[in-house]
Amino acid sequence: MRVPLLDLQSQLQPLREEIIKAVTAVVDSTMYIQGPEVVGLEEEVASYCNASGAVGVSSGTDALLVSLMALGIGPGDRVLTTSYSFFATMGVILRCGAEPVFADIDPVSFNIDPLEMARVLEADKTRSIKAIIPVHLYGQCADMASVMALAKQYDIPVIEDAAQSIGSEYPDKSGGWSKSGTMGQAGCFSFFPSKNLGGIGDGGMVISNDKEFAEHVRMLRNHGAKPKYYHAKIGGNFRLDPVQATVLRIKLKHLEKWHAARRKNADHYNELFSDSHLVQDNKIKLPVPVYRKQAESSGIEKNYHIYNQYVLRVDKRDGLIDWLRSQDIGCEIYYPLCLHEQECLQGKIDKPSLPHAEEAARTTIALPIYPELSTSMQEYVVEQIIAFYKH
Ligand SMILES: *Cc1c(COP(=O)(O)O)cnc(C)c1O
Repeated sequence: MRVPLLDLQSQLQPLREEIIKAVTAVVDSTMYIQGPEVVGLEEEVASYCNASGAVGVSSGTDALLVSLMALGIGPGDRVLTTSYSFFATMGVILRCGAEPVFADIDPVSFNIDPLEMARVLEADKTRSIKAIIPVHLYGQCADMASVMALAKQYDIPVIEDAAQSIGSEYPDKSGGWSKSGTMGQAGCFSFFPSKNLGGIGDGGMVISNDKEFAEHVRMLRNHGAKPKYYHAKIGGNFRLDPVQATVLRIKLKHLEKWHAARRKNADHYNELFSDSHLVQDNKIKLPVPVYRKQAESSGIEKNYHIYNQYVLRVDKRDGLIDWLRSQDIGCEIYYPLCLHEQECLQGKIDKPSLPHAEEAARTTIALPIYPELSTSMQEYVVEQIIAFYKH
């Protein structure tokens, strides 16, 4: 049986005609820059996330970049983030001329550890840390109550890297739930095709409950022009394509159903793995949905985790990957190197001590989790993993 890591065909097929029709309408409209589809998507995503403002941009990377630009991050500044993320999280800091500074992750959630953040902030005697970027990795929110408490204490703005977590929710202290991207100064989404809400090319969005900040981002997205041809600020071309916007508007209507299907798949994997001895024998560690209990006690379905990825920590990873690929099962390592280990950073910062991030980079593996994955495919994946550890 072939089980791909992601099967975009199975998502496309039921929507294909609607998508072709919508794309054709954009083609025929000749409105190829900005326009009503982009505005429509911005309104719908803002409403979906309970955010007051949303600005469509060219990618998740540009969402982060333009947010840091709006904060005025530049040379001499440092930005506190996690070392266990996709490169874009750090790339945008370096492209602003600033320097990344890392706090280690919590090994259970893989997200930035507030206790480690507190240590880094405490050590920042010159107060050069000017922004914090927590990442909601794999679709589960970082511990935002603690992150925001520290941000408040040190008066530092927070830009949420929510590229993998659109729609995921965090239980706040008052018993309510907040959507990822709405807790900091701004939240950044990616519409890369493999994200839970993916376009047919690149795209991204910045959401913010701060009207002024959203307007600033809106201006920078279009070369800082306001009005046209008058540039008080230097921005860039960070515009979202209306072809992407029209496709994303169709897909957004299905997003909740897709999140729920991914959670169901995760539960099914967990059951199948729990029936084996792999966990007890320390061969694998299952992902932990940290906020699940609160979600269940609330009685209403909450997106405590949207499982953009289902990630195990495993023994003998290289061998397991070779085995799964030989059995036609797709898998991937997100990410094999920590950000502080990347070659482009060598010699630029002092080597930090981040044992949990490094351990994650050495031991994690992502399995297929997409919504259309069948039960029998999941059974096959688990059977093959059990078979690997038998010999
Ligand atoms: C995908 C991703 C990005 C970048 O998004 P693009 O749309 O590919 O530019 C940034 N951060 C994280 C954590 C991501 O997963």
